[in-house]
Amino acid sequence: MQDNNLPIIIIGAGLSGLSLAYFLQERGLSANVLEARQRPGGRILTSFKAQQAPIEMGATWLGNKHTALVELLASFGIGKYEQYQNGLAIYESQPTAPAQLIRLPPNPEPSYRIDGSSSRLIEHLTKVIPASQIKYEQLVQKVEKTANGLLVHTQNQSWKASIVVSTLPPNLLVKTVELPDLPEEVYEIAARTHTWMGESIKFGLRFKEAFWRKPQTSGTIFSNVGPIIECHDHTDPSGQYFGLKGFLHPSTYRFDFENRKQQVLQQLRKFYGAVIDDYLDYEDRVWRAETFTYHPYDTEPIPHQNNGHPIFRQAFLEGRFYISGSETAAQFPGYMDGAVRAARWISKSIFSTIQKQQIST
Ligand SMILES: Cc1cc2nc3c(=O)[nH]c(=O)nc-3n(C[C@H](O)[C@H](O)[C@H](O)COP(=O)(O)OP(=O)(O)OC[C@H]3O[C@@H](n4cnc5c(N)ncnc54)[C@H](O)[C@@H]3O)c2cc1C
Repeated sequence: MQDNNLPIIIIGAGLSGLSLAYFLQERGLSANVLEARQRPGGRILTSFKAQQAPIEMGATWLGNKHTALVELLASFGIGKYEQYQNGLAIYESQPTAPAQLIRLPPNPEPSYRIDGSSSRLIEHLTKVIPASQIKYEQLVQKVEKTANGLLVHTQNQSWKASIVVSTLPPNLLVKTVELPDLPEEVYEIAARTHTWMGESIKFGLRFKEAFWRKPQTSGTIFSNVGPIIECHDHTDPSGQYFGLKGFLHPSTYRFDFENRKQQVLQQLRKFYGAVIDDYLDYEDRVWRAETFTYHPYDTEPIPHQNNGHPIFRQAFLEGRFYISGSETAAQFPGYMDGAVRAARWISKSIFSTIQKQQIST
């Protein structure tokens, strides 16, 4: 058994888990972060290729209203830039009608991207938290109550803890981790909490030039026909590297990679012609195939169902166990901002519990 002096354990090194470790550190408290994957970031994942546009395969956009995230970025000196949308958008309403060029009204709440990619925030967090405190390939399987605390079991180790915080999507948590006795309502609500973007499929195409900008289009596409349902310019802000990035219809997870790719190219050829075949690189990511993000539901929830439910803003097991993660936040649950907000609230709660000496660490 691993005996350590870091009695707070955070399960998951996504944005919520890493932000929590950072906020606790700011309050003078240390935590170990146990992560199942070989990489940090969870649903934040940027694909990098040398001399080509980075492609966000997970979270991409934020708004000024996302103040918790905006503040965290600013505190690290990480900037943001507006999503490129100059020119006309393509709208494909039905298979039997040609696509139309439309002018989108100015967006009163612009969408921004993170300078240097979304993963830059994750990289920054992993630099400010001591590397020894983030443990990869630690798949948590069980949390057990003991006489004086909790024991967290991964596939090959057990960790003593006085406080444990899960940052897993709630449905994934209650379906894949054996937990000590929590109120029955917690299991019921968690199992019916939608894992935001869990069904989404992202695709990205890299090009040598942004040919779509030349005629008059922005690279924005909305389609009711598919397989692409939404697409945006994904050019690097340096203006050197070019790409298109968007979402495929969730049902296309049934096709294999090559089949999806051919369908995407075919749809884009309709709009842009043979220049599409000059692509440098295609990739896509089916998030429902990611076992550390998505788990099938007993009853399919509607999008955002139970996200931000008040039951998640309680400490369980006499203040020793918390359920954090984006889905649990009171504001903007499901978004990057929600992940940071949930972490901020739990760091305050843990700090005040320890201050009141209700739990000794
Ligand atoms: C395709 C896509 C597009 C998105 N677009 C946007 C966007 O544009 N803007 C926006 O604000 N948000 C967006 N989001 C949502 C955003 O990514 C999430 O809200 C946020 O990243 C969630 O962070 P989290 O830490 O709460 O959860 P996660 O990122 O899911 O982190 C949970 C972590 O727990 C780990 N884990 C799982 N099981 C175990 C286990 N048993 N033991 C140990 N570790 C485990 C996982 O590997 C993961 O690292 C998008 C998400 C996706 C998938």
